[in-house]
Amino acid sequence: MLRKIKEQYLLEDKDLSIYATHNLHSKGRRFPEKPHPFRTDFQRDRDRILHSRAFRRLEYKTQVFLNGKGDHYRTRLTHTIEVAAIARTIARALYLNEDLAETIALAHDLGHTPFGHSGEYAINELMQDHGGFDHNRQALTVVDVLEEKYPDYDGLNLTWEVRTGLIKHRDSSSFLDDKKLENQPHLESQVADIADDLTYYGHDVDDGLESGLLDEKMFTDNKLWNLACERALERGVKLITGSEKSRGFIVRCLIDMMVQNVILNSEKNLQPYSKYSSADIQKIDKKLISFSSDFEKLTLEHRKFLYKNLYHHPDVDNVNNNAVQRMRHLFQIYLKKPELMSVTAVKRAEKVGLHRAVADYIAGMTDRFAIIEFKKHHA
Ligand code: MG
Repeated sequence: MLRKIKEQYLLEDKDLSIYATHNLHSKGRRFPEKPHPFRTDFQRDRDRILHSRAFRRLEYKTQVFLNGKGDHYRTRLTHTIEVAAIARTIARALYLNEDLAETIALAHDLGHTPFGHSGEYAINELMQDHGGFDHNRQALTVVDVLEEKYPDYDGLNLTWEVRTGLIKHRDSSSFLDDKKLENQPHLESQVADIADDLTYYGHDVDDGLESGLLDEKMFTDNKLWNLACERALERGVKLITGSEKSRGFIVRCLIDMMVQNVILNSEKNLQPYSKYSSADIQKIDKKLISFSSDFEKLTLEHRKFLYKNLYHHPDVDNVNNNAVQRMRHLFQIYLKKPELMSVTAVKRAEKVGLHRAVADYIAGMTDRFAIIEFKKHHA
């Protein structure tokens, strides 16, 4: 027996809600391609991302802790895989397109610079007079231009739905291929977006505690964490301060609690729109995949807690800032001697200008490659 592609499309169409983004309604690719005999378009896009070089480089990019600091900390890659798994859970429960949500989750951090958010901040500053730098837009540049996999064109030639799904923040000036984008991205993009947030809310606490930079005593006023502890206690777990098993179980409860809140609340949000298509949903002026408002407050407080106590902890900040200083230097070195970049980057400078080519080249680097390059070229 064979499950042919036509059958797969029909099965998907029957299974998903009306407001899900169906493969059958895809607006297609920039360069038309024949259908694959066994994989849907969104599955193909997922595979293209998994097989990209930018995806493999995520392994050596900082999430919070500089890559190589410890074997158990999340990297951009393990963060991305966790986001994808959570996005699938949410999409499946809401009858949305799992493949599409997963694909966007897998691609969502492809535009991140080395050295985490401090790295992005620095490149944006260096690019101030040249159009700025934003990791979300950069993810699109990576899949549309910088990946080189096809002889006839640049980029991965992904579907319109995956490409627009990567542009999560919209305003009146949001365009793609000269087409104005709708108010909101489709629901699968919203799923990937919230999955990203709740994933790091969960795992950064875990890494923070593992590193010793966070201490369980600091959590007295963190309501979200306390709720997770209550959940763990309800499950009959004995909570012992400092125990790895206790911590693991609380983090598990924390993530599960957030995922369940998103699923149940979004289902409620979606009820009045049961006859809307994916296209109609995008015209609405609010996001429908969301935490309940009381719960969202707790997550925002938790986020503030992470910024204050972890992301700007001197042990994190200093290490990253040091690395970023070198990256800034490297930027100047390439501006003076573009020939030190890769052949592709040098060629790209002719097309998009030297500053943008340098930004793209450095943004693509892993932490360790940026450091090696700095050492090599720094006089
Ligand atoms: Mg992320």
